[in-house]
Amino acid sequence: MSDAARAFHQRIDAALADRALGDALALTTGRLAGGRAAAMAAFADAEAARDEARRIRAAAIARLDQLLERFEREATARGCRVHWAETAADATRIVTAIAQEARVTLAVKSKSMVSEEIELNAALERSGVRVVETDLGEFVVQIAGDRPSHIITPIIHRSRHDVARLFREKANAAPEDVADIPAMTAFARRTLRAEFLQAGMGISGANVAVAETGTVCLVTNEGNGRLTTTLPRVHVALVGIERIVPSAADLAAVLSLLARSATGQALSVYTSLISGPRRAGAGPGPAKGGEPDGPDDVHVVFVDNGRSRLLGGPLAEILYCIRCGACLNVCPVYQKVGGHAYGGVYPGPVGSVVMPGLLGLEAWSELAQASSLCGACREACPVRIDLPRLLLEVRRQAAAKRLAPRWLRVAMPVYAAVARRPRLYRSAVAAAGLLGRMVAKGGWIRWLPGPLGAWTASRDFPAPATRSFLQQHRLRKEAAR
Ligand code: SF4
Repeated sequence: MSDAARAFHQRIDAALADRALGDALALTTGRLAGGRAAAMAAFADAEAARDEARRIRAAAIARLDQLLERFEREATARGCRVHWAETAADATRIVTAIAQEARVTLAVKSKSMVSEEIELNAALERSGVRVVETDLGEFVVQIAGDRPSHIITPIIHRSRHDVARLFREKANAAPEDVADIPAMTAFARRTLRAEFLQAGMGISGANVAVAETGTVCLVTNEGNGRLTTTLPRVHVALVGIERIVPSAADLAAVLSLLARSATGQALSVYTSLISGPRRAGAGPGPAKGGEPDGPDDVHVVFVDNGRSRLLGGPLAEILYCIRCGACLNVCPVYQKVGGHAYGGVYPGPVGSVVMPGLLGLEAWSELAQASSLCGACREACPVRIDLPRLLLEVRRQAAAKRLAPRWLRVAMPVYAAVARRPRLYRSAVAAAGLLGRMVAKGGWIRWLPGPLGAWTASRDFPAPATRSFLQQHRLRKEAAR
């Protein structure tokens, strides 16, 4: 077993042993998955909308280069500055340079998975810029020195009592500030408002970028995204290069599914469309065409960081993802172990493809093994990404690079050799069935040897049926004649 795989298994064991985590995950994933199911059931054209969204995303990825060039032209014409970052290091260097040029010492940030991916906060802090997370969940993550464990709900792993304790210990909250959830949110709002007013730079992600207008679209539920992108004098939007659609109509089609799939809302509370800095007009104020608020400078930083390597390849479909998190909420593995067990920025089924796809198989291929391939993720995905197929593809690539565990590398050729010889296969199945029934008690096997023991460590294995599938099939056929 590789070091990465061993570390992954250790994180899984720790997560499974954490009862509080299990309770928190069951509660929130159940609520989110239930909300999604209800919202989609109430959405008259849900299936047609999913087909349309998939078509839009597939077409956009197929001509990504043209759409990105169009975005750059349109956004530049509206006064934005567009930057291109091939790697995470390039992206952090660009944002740091923007901060230094604008003499920024404090930046406020709304939720951005790309910023987590490129470890932006650490890079900015190293260059003397203090960064304050303003999404409530991310704010809690930051004061706890923690990491987000879900794409949409970063503190899915924490209870409200946890958060109250953190506010008291790390943010000088008074007892009345943590008396209940409204008091805690009011405390966070007061704390963050002061930071918003002093920050020189606002950093956001982007849910979608619209090529025909050079617009960045941001959806949030807390309003912090609006303050981040309008109050500071400089706004930097970090955008994964795949997050682009051609037109505003395409954006509407994607938005009709995003919040429904993520939280069960028809639409998020705030949908912000940013198409350039504050316009000066003929003079200050709306009467003379000038805009009263908004940043003086807007920078859009497109981040590749491995995405273009996926284009045209067998994992390219993952680039259709709109980061709704629905596949996490329905995944029986994520529901049990949560996001931290996956070890990377993107957890769950989507993360098990994105992490090896972007950052390499060597350290991340093991994630794709943590799937029962039940297909719940494919059923929930608003853009119908065939996640089980992609997970199998990651496994195939890992096997081709001999990254699978040694026992599996030995066992699979043996299995393949037996499966190709029908007589031998039937004899082997009969022998395994007989042995299985001999060791079973009450119809269940309670212990299996070697690597198979991972199954019986936490649940029993059903005893093999007396007749094999082939035997039953033959008997039914004969009975039907
Ligand atoms: S893979 Fe599909 S379900 Fe999962 S986050 Fe992406 S769009 Fe949502």
